[in-house]
Amino acid sequence: MQALRLADLEKLEVTEVPRPDAGERALVAVDRAGICGSDVKIVRGITQVAYPRILGHELVGTVVRSARGGHIAEGTRVLVDPFISCGRCVRCRGGRSNLCGNGALLGREVDGGFAEFVAVDDGRMLAIPDGISRDDAGFLQVLGVCVHAQTLVDVFPGQTGVVVGLGVGGLLHLQLLRTRGVRRIVGVTRSAAKRALAERFGATVTCHPDDAEDCVAELTGGAGADVVVESVGTVETLAQAIRLAGGGATVLLYGVTRAEAGRVDYVQLYLKELELVSSRAALIGDYARAVDLLADGVVQVAPLLSERFRLDRGTEAFDALRTRPEVVKVLLEVG
Ligand SMILES: [Zn+2]
Ligand SMILES: [Zn+2]
Repeated sequence: MQALRLADLEKLEVTEVPRPDAGERALVAVDRAGICGSDVKIVRGITQVAYPRILGHELVGTVVRSARGGHIAEGTRVLVDPFISCGRCVRCRGGRSNLCGNGALLGREVDGGFAEFVAVDDGRMLAIPDGISRDDAGFLQVLGVCVHAQTLVDVFPGQTGVVVGLGVGGLLHLQLLRTRGVRRIVGVTRSAAKRALAERFGATVTCHPDDAEDCVAELTGGAGADVVVESVGTVETLAQAIRLAGGGATVLLYGVTRAEAGRVDYVQLYLKELELVSSRAALIGDYARAVDLLADGVVQVAPLLSERFRLDRGTEAFDALRTRPEVVKVLLEVG
């Protein structure tokens, strides 16, 4: 089968590899696979993997061979939960398998979905209703991760929210906050194109990071925001999210900050009694909610699709994401 494989640091290649040996698992023919910011971090070596590795954890496809004893029939279109947990540890047994210490992610610790086929356990697939288009389905995994993060945060109608970073995750969080009743939302990004998208999704105001403090102060009469979503993953944006938060606010750490040093004004954590909430991956129930939100039209993803590339042009797809700041989401068309 064809696969987009990372042969070595910065060396992506389209190549022929053997089909995965599914064993007792289902064999899924991949239809769409989203390229995530974390895939780019792997290519650049910021996140390390063993080479060669087929990347890709945002995937949807069709079951071409059911798992042994599985409940999902051949021909079913499915969303794949890419996180493989052990099922035995205290986190797994406590219903928090997304935090499993023995877990592995498709496309990171094991080969992933930038390939024609992938082997998946029956319990890690969810059927996708016909009403969701093929391209829209390609957003279900990342939407599920955003849904999971939102379930960890209490919001109340009428509050003020800020989303720092308006990539796919930020723009999905913006829509989820609005759906949950957050009345005024500020979107922060350097990209004018992404600010325009955020306004289309109902941001009250959008601004460049340099203007964010003034913008939030003006909107809240100096009180600061009730909930701030950090959706970039740098120390600078984390520090800004903390500055934009008001007293008693919640800061949701959605962006993954891998830096081990940097300046944060720690006294603000004390002065404001902030609640910092971190979020990791998603549970199968979060993916089920994502399917419902998309099927019911509560969340819009079509405007986030910047470009779609066939799998054999996968290296160009990564280049597009890395070199063009206006690009929001790139999907690989595999099926
Ligand atoms: Zn991802
Ligand atoms: Zn476990």
